[in-house]
Amino acid sequence: MKEIAKILVVDDDPNLRKTLADILRVKGYATTVAANGAEAIAAGERETFSLALIDLMLPDMGGLEVMARIKAIAPLTEAIILTGHASMDTAIEATGKGAFSYLLKPYQMDELLLAIRHGIERQQAQEEILRLASFPRLHPSPVIELDSAGEVTYLNPVAERLFPELKTAGVVHPLLQGLAEMFSSLRAAGHAAEVTREANVGAATYELHTHYIRESDLIRIYVLDITQRKRAEAEIHLLATTDSLTGITNRREFSLILAKEMDRSKRYGIPMSLAMYDLDWFKRVNDTFGHDVGDYVLRTVTSVVKENIRANDVVARWGGEEFMVLMLHADMQAALSVAEKLRLEISRYRFDKVNEVTASFGVAEYEPQDDINSLLKRVDDALYLAKERGRNRVEKL
Ligand code: GH3
Ligand code: MG
Ligand code: MG
Repeated sequence: MKEIAKILVVDDDPNLRKTLADILRVKGYATTVAANGAEAIAAGERETFSLALIDLMLPDMGGLEVMARIKAIAPLTEAIILTGHASMDTAIEATGKGAFSYLLKPYQMDELLLAIRHGIERQQAQEEILRLASFPRLHPSPVIELDSAGEVTYLNPVAERLFPELKTAGVVHPLLQGLAEMFSSLRAAGHAAEVTREANVGAATYELHTHYIRESDLIRIYVLDITQRKRAEAEIHLLATTDSLTGITNRREFSLILAKEMDRSKRYGIPMSLAMYDLDWFKRVNDTFGHDVGDYVLRTVTSVVKENIRANDVVARWGGEEFMVLMLHADMQAALSVAEKLRLEISRYRFDKVNEVTASFGVAEYEPQDDINSLLKRVDDALYLAKERGRNRVEKL
């Protein structure tokens, strides 16, 4: 969507100023008026105009000076000078000093509107050129341009820094190999064409997004560092799916895994069981030895559990000191014996300072009519039973 063009009208004649402003508003321009040079400059400091209509004779300063001051603030603002016959020479001089055009008073309104439209078109075109030109320059990744002869014509600052040898090596540089040949096919495919491919430079792998730029008949390449990107993606994924204290699967990720495995289990009729365990009297551990020791216990219990389950089983932190173990291909019988083993190993472990810690376990086997909530409720109820029946034990439901 194109923005409404803003016009500044600078004239000391109040009637003329108002008439002009009204007409321009009707024509769809946003208009600001100024009665003298000082007001005009103040307006220019407040907002950026596409165009300024400036009367040459103003009470406080000359129109040329106003134009110069406004252009100093916003160089792309176009100016049209309005003048009487007596100052014709000065008006002509203004075009040499950067005015887009001048008009003699009394001017034809049609003529003025046409000049305004052209002035605004030019201003918008200038802005577009600047935007396009600055884009590769400011791009955070390397940007390279090649002409039809396969010469490297431009490297943005990032590209210069990362590939200092590119300018001299040109298309024989490993990054650009094969690109010169692509030029004609890209050109034939037209403006929208983008070709993505990978290139290796040393140990790094880059993804090259290559475009044909019709206006300047060149190829522009945006270079993405895939190693870097993959690493960042992996890091984000890890943060989103693991528990920061213990490094195991977090609750959110576990819920997704559980739903997926329930589906699989149902579809193929493979048994699957869930165990939930909660440390016994854990509040006392914190109260007696402090929170840091409590954290150490949580991490250590996690290690003990990990050492005693199969690689495909999933252990997750469900809440503060509540955990889940998803046992794939395990029916109730198998799951009970794993849970019993885990319970025993935890109770046997000698923790620094704390010495003994125990955990209670609930076990539930997935049944085809289960949804995720009914399965979770059963395992939670089983754990509650284990607590109720004395802790440091395994119960099933
Ligand atoms: P119960 O045998 O009934 O489970 O007794 P409990 O004391 O273990 O149970 P309760 O729910 O009363 O206390 C759980 C405690 O776990 C309270 C909380 O301070 C502690 N806790 C939860 N998350 C963490 C954690 O990340 N680090 C530490 N150090 N403690 C935690
Ligand atoms: Mg507890
Ligand atoms: Mg608890």
